[in-house]
Amino acid sequence: MIFKLGHSINQQISAPDNKGVELFIKREDEIHPFVSGNKYRKLKYNLLEAKKNGFKTLLTFGGAFSNHIAAVASAGNLLGFKTIGIIRGEELEDKIFDNETLSFAKQNGMQFKFVSRRDYRDKTTEAFLAKLKEVFNDFYLIPEGGTNNLAIKGCEEILTEADNVFDYICCAVGTGGTISGLINCSKPGQQVLGFPALKGTFLRQDISKFVARTNWDLITSYHFGGYAKINEALVTFINQFKKINGIPLDPVYTGKMMFGIFDLINKDYFEKGSKILVIHTGGLQGIKGMNLVLKNKNLSIIE
Ligand SMILES: *Cc1c(COP(=O)(O)O)cnc(C)c1O
Repeated sequence: MIFKLGHSINQQISAPDNKGVELFIKREDEIHPFVSGNKYRKLKYNLLEAKKNGFKTLLTFGGAFSNHIAAVASAGNLLGFKTIGIIRGEELEDKIFDNETLSFAKQNGMQFKFVSRRDYRDKTTEAFLAKLKEVFNDFYLIPEGGTNNLAIKGCEEILTEADNVFDYICCAVGTGGTISGLINCSKPGQQVLGFPALKGTFLRQDISKFVARTNWDLITSYHFGGYAKINEALVTFINQFKKINGIPLDPVYTGKMMFGIFDLINKDYFEKGSKILVIHTGGLQGIKGMNLVLKNKNLSIIE
C-alpha cells in the first residue's frame, strides 16, 4: 500500500487461571490508527483494483458508528480517492458533528447521502444502484461492511506460517468476510471460531459461500442482545482487560468476543493444553461514540 502500516504482532495475554490454555492476541488493530484491523485487510485489494481500473471515487454504505465508513474515508483521503458514504438514517443529516464517526469521515473528505432505513434495505437492488449512478456518475462500489471476494483475499493474509502452532483461531463476526478469509488460510488441524456481534442472521449460509473447509463454527451466545447493544458487565470486562493487559477492546466486536472466550475458558470449552489465537480486528474508533451513548444513560464509560 501507499500509506505507512504498523506491525501486527502476536502478544500473549493472561488467561483465566488453572485452565491450562495459552492465549495470544494478534494486534491487527496496530496496522493503522484509522484504517485499522480487518478493515485494512478487506480494503487492500479493493483499493488496488479501483486504482488499476482508473476509478477516482469510492462509494460505500454504513451506519452512524460504522468502522468501515471511517476506514474508507481515511483510506480514500490517504490515497487520493473521492469518497461517498450512503448512510442509514435520514435523521442524521443535520447531526453529523454530534457523531464521532461521521465527523471523522467528513474531515477526511467523505461526502454523504443519508437515506431512510427502508431505502437502505434496498441498497443492493439494481434500481437503487442505477439511481446512485445518476447522481454520482462513475464510482468503485464497495459493499456494506466491505465484504466481497477481494476482501476475503485480503483477510487470507492475516495468518502467517508462525501461526500454525495454534489450535484455535478466534475472531468477531459481522458480515462474515473476515472469518471466511481466516478459514481459507487456516490449517486443517485448526478450528476457527467466530463470535457474531449480531443476532439471528444468515451468517452460516453467507460464510459457506466463501469457504470450502468445515473446520469452523459460530458461537452465537455473546451478542449481548444485538448489534452495538452493551451492558454494565461488558463495560467492566473491557476496562478490566485493558488494565491487566494494556490492550483496548472495542464495545461492538472485539469486547464481546473476548468476553465470550474468557467465559468459554472458564466453562472448560477448550481442552487443556490448547493454544488459542484471538484476532484483534480493531474498531477502536467506535469507543468515543459509544461513550457518548453511555454518558447520556448515566452508565460507566469505557476507559
Ligand atoms: C467490521 C468489523 C468486524 C466484522 O468483520 P466482518 O468481516 O464483517 O465479519 C469485526 N471486528 C471489527 C472490529 C470490525 O470493525
